Amino acid sequence: MNYHRFDNIIVGAGGAGMMAALESSKRVGTAVVSKLYPVRSHTGAAQGGIAAALSNLESDSWENHAYDTIKGGDFMVDQTAAEILCREAVDAIYDLEHMGLPFDRTADGRISQRRFGGHTKPNPKYDPSAAPGTEAAKPRVPVMRACHAADRTGHMILQTLYQQCIKQGVTFFDEFHMLDLIIEDGECRGIVAIEIATGQLHTFHAKSVLLATGGFGRMFKVSSNAYALTGDGPAIAYRHGLPLEDMEFYQFHPTGIYRLGILLSEACRGDGGVMFNGKGERFMETYAPNLKDLASRDVCSRSIYQEVRAGRGVDGKDFVHLDIRAQTINRYKTSPTGHDVDDAWVERRLPDIIEFARTYLGVDPIKEPMPIQPTAHYAMGGVPTDIHGRVRSNASGGIVKGLYAAGESACVSVHGANRLGTNSLVDLVVYGKRAGRHMAEHAHSVNFGELPPNPEAPTRAAIDALLSRPRSEPWVKIRDEMQSTMMDNCGVYRTAETLEKAKSDIARLKEAYSRVGVQDKGSIFNTGLLEVLELGCLLDLAEATVASALARRESRGGHSREDFPDRNDVDFFAHSMVSQAPDGGTKVDYMPVDIIYVEKDGQQVSKYPLEIRKY
Ligand SMILES: Cc1cc2nc3c(=O)[nH]c(=O)nc-3n(C[C@H](O)[C@H](O)[C@H](O)COP(=O)(O)OP(=O)(O)OC[C@H]3O[C@@H](n4cnc5c(N)ncnc54)[C@H](O)[C@@H]3O)c2cc1C
Repeated sequence: MNYHRFDNIIVGAGGAGMMAALESSKRVGTAVVSKLYPVRSHTGAAQGGIAAALSNLESDSWENHAYDTIKGGDFMVDQTAAEILCREAVDAIYDLEHMGLPFDRTADGRISQRRFGGHTKPNPKYDPSAAPGTEAAKPRVPVMRACHAADRTGHMILQTLYQQCIKQGVTFFDEFHMLDLIIEDGECRGIVAIEIATGQLHTFHAKSVLLATGGFGRMFKVSSNAYALTGDGPAIAYRHGLPLEDMEFYQFHPTGIYRLGILLSEACRGDGGVMFNGKGERFMETYAPNLKDLASRDVCSRSIYQEVRAGRGVDGKDFVHLDIRAQTINRYKTSPTGHDVDDAWVERRLPDIIEFARTYLGVDPIKEPMPIQPTAHYAMGGVPTDIHGRVRSNASGGIVKGLYAAGESACVSVHGANRLGTNSLVDLVVYGKRAGRHMAEHAHSVNFGELPPNPEAPTRAAIDALLSRPRSEPWVKIRDEMQSTMMDNCGVYRTAETLEKAKSDIARLKEAYSRVGVQDKGSIFNTGLLEVLELGCLLDLAEATVASALARRESRGGHSREDFPDRNDVDFFAHSMVSQAPDGGTKVDYMPVDIIYVEKDGQQVSKYPLEIRKY
């Protein structure tokens, strides 16, 4: 048996995992297990920025950031968690800067910031009696809050954290794929992973384990997510009977490259880009008269769908245009500073985006607009945690001892029903760090729990079964059908009818999956085997997503039910917690949203009262 023992094991070497590792390793032995070589983790694809109210270009405050986050999440956000996020974001940015992250700078040397969707502050000129449409009629105005390193912010974060981890002596197990958690007597005591190069199984014994395995956008046909984003962490937790939180809230980003889904960052619109329909109209004026193209992502994605449905897609097709030409930015006066810009400025601010468009679309965005459509982008839901990253075992406050989660695979619930752009990267660093710190404290307070005999035996049996099966069901067909049904029936818009269709499709595909075999029977770099195992994870998460979406009979944030178009705070102001039912189906419980109360005129009132979300 390949046996390893560390105080703490971190699964995943993205921003969340490496931040946690850095913090944990300051005090106890820490190892990172990652199926990808660390700097290939998807955090490296993050483009536009990381939010923090630094007030470097205009006045801002963490309170503005917290309000935007809670409103942006359509009030499904846990408010204490959101306040921690926004308050600690400021120091987190300076920490990254001191680690050497090469942020873009202002002329006087401070960290530069740009606009992003839903980032606002109160309008100092606001006058409730002002004529509609005038500047004074807007209660809030855009603010520059996103810190950035050109449009390669995630890449810089990943490189910086990796260098720091190496410097600090974190042990890395690169290209080791976790296949199971070891949970005994309600306590997590380690993981089982396969070494991709050899096919050998390894047991990692730990006092605590952190799941930081990233998102699961590969559930959908058109996605901005890399092939590796298959939700292994949440799926394995779900199979151990643990609940997943708010799975119905999946975010579609409005500006994916047409048909491919590759992302054109929101920084395009933050820096002044404008979306146009097939009639050349700036359609966001209709849907979000105040913030227009800087409204939040769910609003923009639905608006594109509405335009296409109304026959106003470009050339009558299912896409619209995103225009970042300097002449357009100047015509609509949308540059962040209000000053005119030129081609060189656009090239400097968005170099990767421009390159993507040239490479993948054959379109030069300096000279012409880019065809875009919404793309599956970000999982607001995931493994439920408290503010220390500890995993919840149920909707009534239970905790799984020794198990933690952070980053996109987790749901500490700072994004609620819709995440604001740049709030994921800050979630990784703030909550990755908090989880790492708590894990270190935990390691100091407990001894290693006993492992079961042959902890890797169930995994070995599952792999042997898969390898011994003849290749009867083509797994690629199952994957394609899953992605299509999720896109068509559980996408930007849903109804009971489409969700029932997705539910029966997924059940059928899971049944077919139980018969799949693998062509390559070898042990060295058997990527076919791993892809089949990843598909199993995606199918489980698709099942959980559809069950949660069916149960939520309202529309909120990224969950838009055409048969229940309004938000229903009376019945559904609560987090869903979906788990596997004993009969093999699913069950959905609800957990209250955490609300902060303050005293006003002798009464306890909500600090962030519910309001209709308009932009
Ligand atoms: C194109 C794009 C642009 C984005 N731009 C921004 C932005 O500008 N600002 C922002 O805030 N957010 C942005 N996001 C979102 C943000 O990048 C992600 O949410 C975030 O990087 C996720 O980080 P993570 O650490 O949770 O996971 P990841 O960085 O995805 O890392 C996951 C890690 O888990 C490992 N792993 C997975 N499964 C296993 C397993 N079974 N065994 C072992 N290891 C495993 C992988 O190897 C990897 O190391 C963007 C996302 C995309 C897709």
